Amino acid sequence: MSKKYVYMFSEGNASMKNLLGGKGANLAEMTNLGLPVPHGFTISTEACTEYNEGGKKLTDEMIEQIDVALGKLEELAGKKLGDPENPLLVSVRSGARASMPGMMDTVLNLGLNDVSVEGLAKKTDNPRFAYDSYRRFIMMFADVVIGVSKSKFERRLDEYKEEVGAKYDTDLTAEDLKKVTAIFKQIYLDDQGKDFPQDPKEQLLEAAMAVFRSWDNPRAFVYRRMNDIPYSWGTAVNVQMMVFGNMGDTSGTGVAFTRNAATGEKAMLGEYLVNAQGEDVVAGVRTPNPIAKLAEDMPNVYDQFMEIANKLENHYKDMQDMEFTIEEGKLFFLQTRNGKRTANAALRIAVEMVEEGLITTDEALMRVEPKQLDQLLHPAFDQAALKAAKSLGKGLPASPGAAAGKVYFTAEEAKAAAEAGDRVILVRLETSPEDIEGMAASQGILTVRGGMTSHAAVVARGMGTCCVSGCEEIKMNEDAKTFTLGGKTFAEGDYISLDGSTGNIYGEDIPTVEAEITGNFETFMKWADAKRSLKVRTNADTPHDAQVAIDFGAEGIGLTRTEHMFFEADRIMKFRKMIMSDTVEEREAALEGIEPFQKEDFKGIYKAMKERPVTIRLLDPPLHEFMPNTEEEFAQLAEMTGKTVEELKIKARGLHELNPMMGHRGCRLAVSYPEIAKMQAKAIMEAAVEVSEEEGINIVPEIMIPLIGEIKELKFVKNIVVETVEKVFEAKGRKLDYLVGTMIEIPRAALTADEIATEAEFFSFGTNDLTQMTFGLSRDDAGKILSDYIDKNIYEVDPTARLDRTGVGLLMKWAVEKAKPVRPDIHLGICGEHGGDPYSVEFCHLIGLDYVSCSPYRVPIARLAAAQAQLQFPR
Ligand code: ADP
Ligand code: MG
Ligand code: MG
Repeated sequence: MSKKYVYMFSEGNASMKNLLGGKGANLAEMTNLGLPVPHGFTISTEACTEYNEGGKKLTDEMIEQIDVALGKLEELAGKKLGDPENPLLVSVRSGARASMPGMMDTVLNLGLNDVSVEGLAKKTDNPRFAYDSYRRFIMMFADVVIGVSKSKFERRLDEYKEEVGAKYDTDLTAEDLKKVTAIFKQIYLDDQGKDFPQDPKEQLLEAAMAVFRSWDNPRAFVYRRMNDIPYSWGTAVNVQMMVFGNMGDTSGTGVAFTRNAATGEKAMLGEYLVNAQGEDVVAGVRTPNPIAKLAEDMPNVYDQFMEIANKLENHYKDMQDMEFTIEEGKLFFLQTRNGKRTANAALRIAVEMVEEGLITTDEALMRVEPKQLDQLLHPAFDQAALKAAKSLGKGLPASPGAAAGKVYFTAEEAKAAAEAGDRVILVRLETSPEDIEGMAASQGILTVRGGMTSHAAVVARGMGTCCVSGCEEIKMNEDAKTFTLGGKTFAEGDYISLDGSTGNIYGEDIPTVEAEITGNFETFMKWADAKRSLKVRTNADTPHDAQVAIDFGAEGIGLTRTEHMFFEADRIMKFRKMIMSDTVEEREAALEGIEPFQKEDFKGIYKAMKERPVTIRLLDPPLHEFMPNTEEEFAQLAEMTGKTVEELKIKARGLHELNPMMGHRGCRLAVSYPEIAKMQAKAIMEAAVEVSEEEGINIVPEIMIPLIGEIKELKFVKNIVVETVEKVFEAKGRKLDYLVGTMIEIPRAALTADEIATEAEFFSFGTNDLTQMTFGLSRDDAGKILSDYIDKNIYEVDPTARLDRTGVGLLMKWAVEKAKPVRPDIHLGICGEHGGDPYSVEFCHLIGLDYVSCSPYRVPIARLAAAQAQLQFPR
């Protein structure tokens, strides 16, 4: 039998998302629940992939199956596509596996042509409606399928409205719309040199192909990259019988969430427009009514709507985001999906659904995306400063958060300013999908038009960016790049602040304060901690970072980098003196000056961490980072060392390296200059003994040797460390337990892990270097190269951000499997950037590491990712 590409809604269900896309699978599920869903069929994501890979053509098989499905649909509908008297109209809708709101394209009212539009007018006795539908269809088809910009049509429509004195499109008469239709067809003809296609079958196939191609449009690329959606997934196409919200005052269209997507409150949040179609609500053509108004306008429809919405939430056991249309008093559901929500809302909904008995704590843990927690870990307004500030005006609290920055009026300028280091607030009349990169670069988004479900609001919530929408008091002058609010005029570059939780707008730069984990967040994180088997540590170099991480739930430090401890002004000079020394004695003398500082730094960290484990890495960066650069620095150094500037420069030239990242760094420094390792080991251990005594606690330091590739290298440095530590114990008259281990970051170390494990008491995978060296791709130069690779679909994601399980992961797995038999109690962790990336955390769980370590702000993310890994792959 040939492959099945096309499924009637009645043949699918919610579990078939991969094949039918989210929209198609849920339309099928709703159909099977007996809900009022217009009939239709879905062309699978597999067809999309084959289309895009196979020379952008629909195969005969696909076309045949579409024909058969269309026949069935016509039978269900009781009318035929292109029928001159009673035409069937359909929508052609995109729908990927993961929802990508507003990113891809949809065509409505397909099947209209110069003949069938007249039939529709007669049949419905409503020519206004028929021509309203036709002009919309021409515009959408031209835009989506042919690529004639929508704005060409919109501009002419605005001009026409002005000519006849119509404020809204609802003020246009049937005659007007007939004229608009003619104008639109002329625009099409002028642009394309041929008439608007009249054959409905051709319209249908062309539209389906356009949806497949829309998977390839630039904004879809950007969205996928931001949301880790692989290109290979493809989109499905849904062909669905039209129902009409634009048939008059007893018709309308709307969108609703079963709970508040901004706060999580259990209250229906919805908006609708009378006598409107499709995107009108989201696009902000007119300001919509709140759903509560429907109870007054059409009480029966409202009751039915509430009943179905609640039924859907109970069925999916999650907050639903729904689209509906009312056609002459009859309600239809056009879409449902698990709604996008802010992190705060996600936590509140998860916790409350557990309290309501709708879901278990395990289910709740899977409801929140770990990455989303990031939104909650960032600063909020300083309450005192906020109180003192005076609000200039108020919009809708579309996406919470505190944002302060400079005003920019276009997405491009916002992006450029953010890249130049500014905090940016993007101010727009309304946003559109083209604005996505500018929105992502902004601290906050402010729009003049559009409701709680407008494009700006939905996208901002998805990104976790603060957004205040629909502030109609704003007088915008787009040409002059200014706006006026509360009697004050703002130009590009002026500061404003937005409070996304209240909708308040302030004309100043309000300071912010650190976030805290309390309330639902705390409850939820406790569930995560109870579940996970991976421990979560942090990478912290200072007592302050250590404290932030503890507040965020870190259980220890997986990496303290010691290099920053050398960079303070007086220390770096001493260190330079050390590098430029000619004898061991000179070097030791120079280092002696640094040791007390290091010891104090370590004491601060131990004190913050109490008895929690602390891994300290010996000096790692290449020597060249410490070299004097300017004439002034050379002169200063000459004064300190008694050497001439000329001598120092010769010495510096001698130390110059062509490729420092693979040069004199890590354990190689300790091999050349054992004094450095000695000084550091002494500082680490003296600090540990002293804090143990002062605080009456028991510290077990973990000393980590970086960049090992060969067992003898490790032995050499370890011996220096052990000898030094023993001397400290003798001098102090007190012994502590301690561990000496290594980073696994050079492929050779991973490959010879069984040997390395004979000396190393712990491994910490340094996946930044391990990735760099496995790919042979310098981290410092990777940016440009990787973006080309990702654009050309050679890499799906950036391996420096998300662990490459296939290659780098294989080395890690190998190392774990080799090391364990040699040293069964070996302690295993990861301290690369990947330690805070959920997908990478899951991999660490799978290969049996003991802990992940990440930056303080990612600790809660790693805690949740670890819990989700345990839920899905118990170990
Ligand atoms: P998106 O994924 O961008 O939301 P949709 O495919 O959901 O795109 O469609 C865009 C708009 O058109 C939505 O408001 C939807 O409800 C409406 N729509 C889609 N198909 C139909 C239909 N068959 N009848 C009436 N309205 C429709
Ligand atoms: Mg939709
Ligand atoms: Mg490294």
